[in-house]
Amino acid sequence: MTTSRGRQIVLAARPKGKPELTDFRLEETAIPTPAAGQLLLGVQYLSLDPYMRGRLARTGWRTHALSDGTGLRKLDPAAAPVTTALGVLGMPGFTAYGGLRVIGKPQPGETVVVAAASGPVGSLVGQLAQFAGARAVGIGGGPQKCAFLRGELRFDAAVDHRAPDFPARLAAACPHGIDVYFENVGGTIWQAVLPLLNDFARVPVSGLIAQYNGVPDGDGTDGLPATMRQILSKRLTIRGFINYDFAAEHYADFLREVGAGIAAGRIRYREDIVDGLENAPGAFIGMLEGRNFGKLIVRVAAYDRRGT
Ligand code: NDP
Repeated sequence: MTTSRGRQIVLAARPKGKPELTDFRLEETAIPTPAAGQLLLGVQYLSLDPYMRGRLARTGWRTHALSDGTGLRKLDPAAAPVTTALGVLGMPGFTAYGGLRVIGKPQPGETVVVAAASGPVGSLVGQLAQFAGARAVGIGGGPQKCAFLRGELRFDAAVDHRAPDFPARLAAACPHGIDVYFENVGGTIWQAVLPLLNDFARVPVSGLIAQYNGVPDGDGTDGLPATMRQILSKRLTIRGFINYDFAAEHYADFLREVGAGIAAGRIRYREDIVDGLENAPGAFIGMLEGRNFGKLIVRVAAYDRRGT
């Protein structure tokens, strides 16, 4: 592909609460010229991740960027599709791997529950839990995602958090309680999980996507005292983490184990690829409402092997 101008998405306004399309603007830019020791990167695929909601001062949704090479990883398209480096074999996958291995520590016969289970973090949490001999229960938004969890990903059970009787359905899916809850969402899902946690349960707190657009006004009841009582009486381990906390010790094992699982077809994943940089804002807003189904990626451009 040969172009003389690049494009980038910039913030037109800082979102208040739920982001709107008018908060973003597509601009043309000059393609930067690399100085000595720098590389010009042509963006082929762009990752959209929930954590970006908290960083909407960024200018990184663009077709070209300069780099001094730090943090770049050479991909082998023969080992796994390059898009997996943004999802199951990248930062989200490592979040699942590190959080489960270091904090969750699932044991054979235990019950592991994860929400946002069809996404890149949750889908790997469930599969790794099963490899450890645990029972995997996924929470998904809607019947289609729940069918995918049970069918394609082979979760032992899937529960729709949009069902009006969700807490009762979750309790029925976890007849022996919950030993590991991998927290991706917070809010009403956490409130339904909390009473089901067994003594000494572990809760890796990975994300709180239900809160990323702000917390709605409460109904006057504060759930925190009850939460703290359960933490104490059940001697729960709840630990927040950022995936790179575990990188030095576990990243190489992650690439080897999960890479081998993907190559052998033992680990499955789903990607939701949207075409065109100009569609990034709409896709991002949709992800915060659960409209993505699998790892959300924007295809920015197609490059041949020489990168032209
Ligand atoms: P996903 O693609 O799973 O995230 C989007 C999904 O979250 C939606 O499809 C929807 O799934 C669910 N969701 C969105 N809003 C709500 C809501 N209000 N209530 C319930 N569910 C909601 O993304 P990832 O797998 O990339 O990320 C999952 C979590 O992991 C996020 O919280 C993210 O911030 C966190 N994370 C943490 C990292 C760390 O280092 N600690 C690193 C990477 C990610 P559904 O329709 O099924 O409900």
